[in-house]
Amino acid sequence: MNPADRSLVLPSFDRLHLPSSLVEALARQGIERPSPIQTAVIPAALDGHDVLGRARTGSGKTLAFGIPVLARLAGRPSRPKAPRALILLPTRELATQVHDALAPLAQALGLRTTTVYGGVPINRQITALKGRTDVLVATPGRLGDLLDRRCVTLDGVEITVLDEADHLCDLGFFKPIDALLSKTPAGSQRLLLSATLDGDVDRLVRRHLPDHRLFEVDEVDDQVESMEHHVLITPHESRVTTAYDLLRVNPRSIVFTRTRRGATRLARQLSQRGLTAVDLHGDLTQKHRERNLGRFSRGEASVVVATDVAARGIHVDGIGLVVHYDAPAEHKAYLHRSGRTARAGAAGSVVTLATPETLGDVIAVQRKAGVEARHHRVESAPSPLTVASLSGAGEPAPAAKAPAAGPRRGGPARRRRPARRR
Ligand code: AMP
Repeated sequence: MNPADRSLVLPSFDRLHLPSSLVEALARQGIERPSPIQTAVIPAALDGHDVLGRARTGSGKTLAFGIPVLARLAGRPSRPKAPRALILLPTRELATQVHDALAPLAQALGLRTTTVYGGVPINRQITALKGRTDVLVATPGRLGDLLDRRCVTLDGVEITVLDEADHLCDLGFFKPIDALLSKTPAGSQRLLLSATLDGDVDRLVRRHLPDHRLFEVDEVDDQVESMEHHVLITPHESRVTTAYDLLRVNPRSIVFTRTRRGATRLARQLSQRGLTAVDLHGDLTQKHRERNLGRFSRGEASVVVATDVAARGIHVDGIGLVVHYDAPAEHKAYLHRSGRTARAGAAGSVVTLATPETLGDVIAVQRKAGVEARHHRVESAPSPLTVASLSGAGEPAPAAKAPAAGPRRGGPARRRRPARRR
């Protein structure tokens, strides 16, 4: 849905009975109308219900939970060391980004937020918790550590949010999360946001949000309009050159590799050819990761080369291209990675590099992800390799050449409604 259409069908924030200082703080950031997931989740959460929201990154899910949390806490102070809202999330990067999104809104309401995550010295976080914290944003490991040291208590928690619950579970946090939720008061409110609701996420829901309101906002229509998928078939030995040709003409791109070492190597190879490329992965210190992400966010680097885990939850707007340099083995990873582009209704493209040997696997992953991609052989692909020139060129994936349907030409590759998982 483009922003003009959105303004016709969505109510403004005024209609959601929010504190006026919060609505004004949102407006100062140019946020005037709730996205579909916000329209669905905010009223139910304001009413005190447990909420289960299926929403992907880029749909506005941070504010879908952030707005009701802040609105419900407003006007009353918390006790020292006893936050009244707890936001649990999988990575330090996501913690920082959620904090950055919520801190100005919290401030407008006179609320204080504190963020704690691992990989940095704990002492400063202990000091911060000694004062009043209304909203605690935390990764599970560091929060467990702070609880063990009795630097914080969850006795006063009124609302707990699990953000990217599927990712938390993928990283093996089911048990810690289960334990942390058990430390919050029984009967306190819980909001769970996730791109998928199966497996361990379903177990968490049954144990901790048995009586919830479920909102599944299908963003597929948005994606159909905004995201294009391409496969660029290149000989193995030309992959770096192909990546360079692609990235040279499409700045603000994120590139995914399978391994940490692969990310460092590719960033170096691209830099040697004259691009400003930075890497982002778990082998780097927290400081180094923040510095690299900062350079990319500020536009000082035009490319970030990342591994899956490091890149999940990166909220940088204006990424026009996602490149799967190493195709992911799994459709969920394909969707998560691709979700870095086409955020908040903006246009974006996704290019997967395949060699003749890996092409079959790439097609299988994309089919499972519900994606129809255009295929280009690098020898005959448009030059320069801009996303605009790829759009409409190339061939449909081999399986799409069924005689009855006929090959699709001209139109951009689209995302189909994904097959139901489970
Ligand atoms: P999220 O899905 O929470 O990562 O949000 C993706 C991006 O959309 C962020 O940059 C938000 O600032 C932006 N955003 C969230 N809600 C809205 C809204 N209602 N109107 C405009 N932009 C929004």
